[in-house]
Amino acid sequence: MIAVDLSTIIDFYRRQQKLACNYRLALCWRWSKPIEVRKWSAMTAMNESNIAIVVHGGAGDIPLDRRELAEQGCREAATVGWELLTSGRSAVDAVEAAVRALEDNPVFNAGRGSVLNAAGRVEMDAGIMDGRTRDAGAVTLIQHIRHPISLARNVMEASDHLILGGEGAEAFAKKMGFELVSNDYFVTERRLAQYQKRLRAGTADTVGAVALDRAGHVAAANSTGGVSFKLPGRIGDSPILGAGFLADDRYGAVATTGQGEHIIQAGLSFLIMRLMTKGLRAVEASDRVRSLFIESVPNGKAGWIVVDAQGGVAIGHTTRNLSFAWRVSGLETMVSGLE
Ligand code: ASP
Repeated sequence: MIAVDLSTIIDFYRRQQKLACNYRLALCWRWSKPIEVRKWSAMTAMNESNIAIVVHGGAGDIPLDRRELAEQGCREAATVGWELLTSGRSAVDAVEAAVRALEDNPVFNAGRGSVLNAAGRVEMDAGIMDGRTRDAGAVTLIQHIRHPISLARNVMEASDHLILGGEGAEAFAKKMGFELVSNDYFVTERRLAQYQKRLRAGTADTVGAVALDRAGHVAAANSTGGVSFKLPGRIGDSPILGAGFLADDRYGAVATTGQGEHIIQAGLSFLIMRLMTKGLRAVEASDRVRSLFIESVPNGKAGWIVVDAQGGVAIGHTTRNLSFAWRVSGLETMVSGLE
């Protein structure tokens, strides 16, 4: 049942301090036969850059008419993060700002524009991790906060907890001075039409970012409305440390997207991080994890973005598409696309 080096996992998770639940996840590994992956890509800027950012706008089957908008939204968000990094701000500031921009953009399944659950409501998850301290914060089942990623950052910095969910998370938000908005604020015409036609929007359009700052610190962030028609109360990978995101200055940072259940089952972020602990650069770890993920979850649908401690970046996915934008020191321009 378990085909990984448990002592490494245990050691890694012990270092995270707050982490009993994710530790259990790591032990719940499933092992089965590999299948062929539909699509895979990776890229890197192997120069030893001193800043880097990668943003994704979701892995899945992105409809033709949404592709340009998704790529443009990723570029805009990555530019917001890049500008903060060039002005000397931290990787945590950069990933939070990039994800906030994506949460404000109704093209994406995060913040305004999130998919609806089976009860016709928006319930959002988000998580953030600072590679400098290896501290993290996450929120789940959020219905009234415009920027779940900023609430996750508050959980990381102003609470003794790692994950807060539902009403408790929103009571904490109120205490921290967040404005609570109506759930209707998040519902766009497009999502309502999808819901009314009982159209499953799949897993596309969720968002995330990873970054390396000038001081050599990395960070990862995720935000999502989850999967359409999910049961109320369902929680995906995005707020789960080790599944949806991880950041550790010694190695790098990872954020994932795709079918949350598959990603949690595989402990996908941890799989990638573990490869980097063995000295693999982002692109090598990203390449290698593809088969590990598929072996763990046959037909698993996921995408991932990675930055390593030297500023190498990588993007991979087993879904039809992933929209992304990235930039590293030494490159004059933002690279973006939809593969
Ligand atoms: N991973 C997210 C979830 O399962 C959805 C996505 O990435 O599109 O909640």
